Amino acid sequence: MLEIKNLHVKLEEEDKQILKGVDLSVEAGKVHAIMGPNGSGKSTLSYVLSGRDGYEVTDGSATLEGADLLELEPEERAAAGLFLAFQYPVEIPGVGNMTFLRTAFNAQRKARGEEEISAADFLKLIREKAKELKIDADMLKRPVNMGFSGGEKKRNEILQMAVLGPKMCILDETDSGLDVDAMKLVSDGVNALRDEGRAFLVITHYQRLLNHIKPDVVHIMSNGRIVKTGGPELALEVEENGYADIVAEDA
Ligand code: ADP
Ligand code: MG
Ligand code: MG
Repeated sequence: MLEIKNLHVKLEEEDKQILKGVDLSVEAGKVHAIMGPNGSGKSTLSYVLSGRDGYEVTDGSATLEGADLLELEPEERAAAGLFLAFQYPVEIPGVGNMTFLRTAFNAQRKARGEEEISAADFLKLIREKAKELKIDADMLKRPVNMGFSGGEKKRNEILQMAVLGPKMCILDETDSGLDVDAMKLVSDGVNALRDEGRAFLVITHYQRLLNHIKPDVVHIMSNGRIVKTGGPELALEVEENGYADIVAEDA
């Protein structure tokens, strides 16, 4: 599904190399987790994959189902099936959540050469999804993320994900700032979306999220590279011993 090879990325503004040869291969149907110390480049990796400005790829490649992601515009990446849930979801004053979701949904259909869906049909679809995810329909009427609690913002991102139906979902520290109940809701939402045709990359600083979203593979990132890969037990090892040993071993 997602194939990253030798990815090197520097900041556009300054001569600072952040990713120094990331190799990562995520198969359809799998959940991969990336853990790692603060500043190791986890968010940078997700930003670069989403096509955010400010980064320059100096070497390597990233493909989604064989298509060169790095050549695509951000909206083309989304239409190709890439979805990113960010650490800090943006608030959009004046734009209703429902309108936002329908616009995003139809933009993707258009990019794929499919017909737009009517407001009535979309309403049906979104009510269904909201119900599945136990999301209060009231949240659909409010401006995007405005005045939402941390937990509501995260849940809203899961709703976006459910509605857009991406193939490759990347969650960047979706657990940060969540209490246990909210984390469970988000995890349940993700677990409900697990599917043979869909893959997840769950970026997290802490192990606790992985108690709820059970990963198939765990990677440790340090200093701009994946330095260790293992099964779920690797996350428990990190929880117990921290990152120091793994980072030292790599050095
Ligand atoms: P993580 O998500 O693993 O905590 P980040 O990807 O946020 O790591 O950051 C990796 C490194 O790149 C850090 O040293 C961070 O300070 C630096 N960095 C990222 N973006 C910028 C930026 N726009 N300007 C300066 N430094 C940056
Ligand atoms: Mg960080
Ligand atoms: Mg980060």
